[in-house]
Amino acid sequence: MKNDELTSHKPNLLISNTVCDKCYDHQASTKNGNCEICGEFIKKFFGFKCELFGDYVYKELAYLAEKNDALVYIFDHNFKSYDGHFILQDVFNRDFRGIEPIPNGSEVIKINDGNVRFIESLSFFLLPLPAMPKAFGLERLVEKGFCPFLLNNKEEIDYVGDLPDEKYFGTDIMKSNNLARFKNWHNSNQGMIFNLKHEMEKYRSNDVLILLLSVMEFRNQFKEITSLDPITRNFTLAPVGLEISRAKFFEPEQLAITPITGF
Ligand SMILES: [Zn+2]
Repeated sequence: MKNDELTSHKPNLLISNTVCDKCYDHQASTKNGNCEICGEFIKKFFGFKCELFGDYVYKELAYLAEKNDALVYIFDHNFKSYDGHFILQDVFNRDFRGIEPIPNGSEVIKINDGNVRFIESLSFFLLPLPAMPKAFGLERLVEKGFCPFLLNNKEEIDYVGDLPDEKYFGTDIMKSNNLARFKNWHNSNQGMIFNLKHEMEKYRSNDVLILLLSVMEFRNQFKEITSLDPITRNFTLAPVGLEISRAKFFEPEQLAITPITGF
């Protein structure tokens, strides 16, 4: 929503992919049908605010997890600087007590709310979303798409017409390799009828899938190599490294001492 003096970000589409250890197939990188523990795979919530998504998390997932003596881990890319603020606002609107947000300045890197834990994916791997498929060997399954996110505002959300100009896709902040891929895509799609709402939905769905597959592959590889689960006890990479050192390399009753002048 914007006018000449003020711009305010409001979520208008939230998409989630839900899996658990019972239904996720690491070989096929997908979920095996509807799961009796975690329910449907894909959920889409249209409309402002996070209320419907919050209802799903706190009234369905948290309940299912409690019945199965489990926790809900929600990974979000760029949670600390962006989405986390919407989630925190929704939590405050619900008047939940005892939540445990971990702030870093104005950023929110984790929120604990009962048996629900929101986690910033960037705290585990400092990768932009377009780089994740290659980093985790998922290129044959997913590829980051393109969307004119600068048109996603109240005045232009119903746009249907020619492929929007390059400037609406945020080309000024794209890395060079991604920019070259975008130029190629934009040139080859001239002449298409562009429905912004439909394209936004496809784009967001794909983003969510990239993150899900990357998190699950990261966790799977980590467990195979170290026998430790990186996400159940930590929410950033540094303590994961310390945990591996203590579990795998230190002798009993051995402590690491940091040099006074640092490493
Ligand atoms: Zn499941």
